[in-house]
Amino acid sequence: MAPQLSIVIVGAGLSGLAASIQCALSGHEVTVLESAKELAEVGAGLQLTPNATKILQKWDVYQHVNKPAEPRTCTVYNYKGKVLAHEDNFDKNNRRKYNAPFSDCHRVDLQQALAKRAQELGVEVLLNTRVTDINFSGEERDGIKEAAVSTESGTTLLADLVVAADGLWSTCRSVFLNRFAPPLPTGDLAYRIVLNLPQIKDEKLRKMVQEPAVRFWVGPDAHVVAYSMRGGEMYNVVLLVPDDLDEGVARTQGDLDEMRKLFEGWDPVLTQLLECVDKVDKWKLMHREEMKSWINPQSNLVLIGDACHPMLPYLAQGANSSIEDGCVLGLLLSPSVNPGFASKSDLPSTLQLFQKLRKARGEAIARETFKQRRDFHMRDGLEQEKRDKLFEMWLEKAKGAEIEGEEEFPSRWTCPVVQPWLYGYDAFKEVEAAVAQASKESASL
Ligand SMILES: Cc1cc2nc3c(=O)[nH]c(=O)nc-3n(C[C@H](O)[C@H](O)[C@H](O)COP(=O)(O)OP(=O)(O)OC[C@H]3O[C@@H](n4cnc5c(N)ncnc54)[C@H](O)[C@@H]3O)c2cc1C
Repeated sequence: MAPQLSIVIVGAGLSGLAASIQCALSGHEVTVLESAKELAEVGAGLQLTPNATKILQKWDVYQHVNKPAEPRTCTVYNYKGKVLAHEDNFDKNNRRKYNAPFSDCHRVDLQQALAKRAQELGVEVLLNTRVTDINFSGEERDGIKEAAVSTESGTTLLADLVVAADGLWSTCRSVFLNRFAPPLPTGDLAYRIVLNLPQIKDEKLRKMVQEPAVRFWVGPDAHVVAYSMRGGEMYNVVLLVPDDLDEGVARTQGDLDEMRKLFEGWDPVLTQLLECVDKVDKWKLMHREEMKSWINPQSNLVLIGDACHPMLPYLAQGANSSIEDGCVLGLLLSPSVNPGFASKSDLPSTLQLFQKLRKARGEAIARETFKQRRDFHMRDGLEQEKRDKLFEMWLEKAKGAEIEGEEEFPSRWTCPVVQPWLYGYDAFKEVEAAVAQASKESASL
């Protein structure tokens, strides 16, 4: 009989819900514990890239996300409004190359579609349930040690496996490492803005924000990303600027005048857009040092998502790579996909295989986000001129088509080297290949 694990997932963010779906599909009993009283993902916009939409489609989740918009163009402007890079047919090109869409949605729409699918598969999602502690050294059964997960309300849940999907401030991570260490500042912060269409009075601007398109403006020490959501009813704008928040402040309401002042002299299209804003949040962008291991010595805890590989949002990969994590973990825990997971006692080696597949990629993506910052935040000067020459050369050569070649391009969003590595990742094929390799290795022993 196939081994059935009792899995407790801490956190019903995008990574936790993603893991719950694939673990449930693999036949396990899954409970998700979430501290929030309701599922209301904070922030607003989310860019979904083909590496994740491929998975969401297979799970029948993407089909239930409210009005995802596939951007038809991807454009990078310099801060004065000059086009540096532009790709037409961005939607079609992504589908053709990666067999899945690039699309923009509201976070809460994805979170709810994931939660609905998880619940259909029998996953229990307990809200208002904050995990405070975990004892990893419970009784040994079928070759694995049981973990006891304690919650704020005094209940204890027993699990064969705890999946830490509790984000940047992960309690599970602190319990595992036996010390609390706050995340580290990256030096940047994000102003997060959502404009509802009625807020935009200017006709030209209204037309612009309704178009499914991704736009970036890049300038000294800062950049901006903007795109439509919910079929053009909302416009998501994120301003990425140097962090001026006090050390202990992770999030606060932003001052509109202060925000506009930072963009004085930038493209009038952008400054006009900022005039429409009546409310803004300021978020400190944080990261963490790479961990030695994402698995505890007892092999009954594994970390995923922002709990182990938080990154700058400059490539929109935090959630996308977390969905990959959840998918790979669940697939490896399926005996029909992975014959190496034939009994509960195979859990430690299965988790090691998960770590082998995911840790290097998650951490490499996080490092790449810092490279994107370097290329998008250049101050005026020699380096920036060199960058813009490369942009110009390709703008002339590609004429709206895709960039080709083997050289890196300063916008990784359309870079012929980085984009295929990010968007071309196929979690299902990755697991299939790893399992085939593992069985070949065990046969040759
Ligand atoms: C400005 C900005 C823009 C971004 N844009 C994108 C984008 O376009 N595309 C993209 O892929 N990524 C984007 N990201 C990154 C993305 O938001 C995160 O990487 C992703 O949400 C991480 O998901 P997670 O589930 O690992 O963590 P979280 O989303 O942080 O979820 C953790 C969950 O755990 C719960 N929790 C925490 N502690 C406990 C506890 N002790 N007990 C129980 N529950 C607990 C929390 O309430 C939360 O629901 C962006 C980030 C920022 C800041």
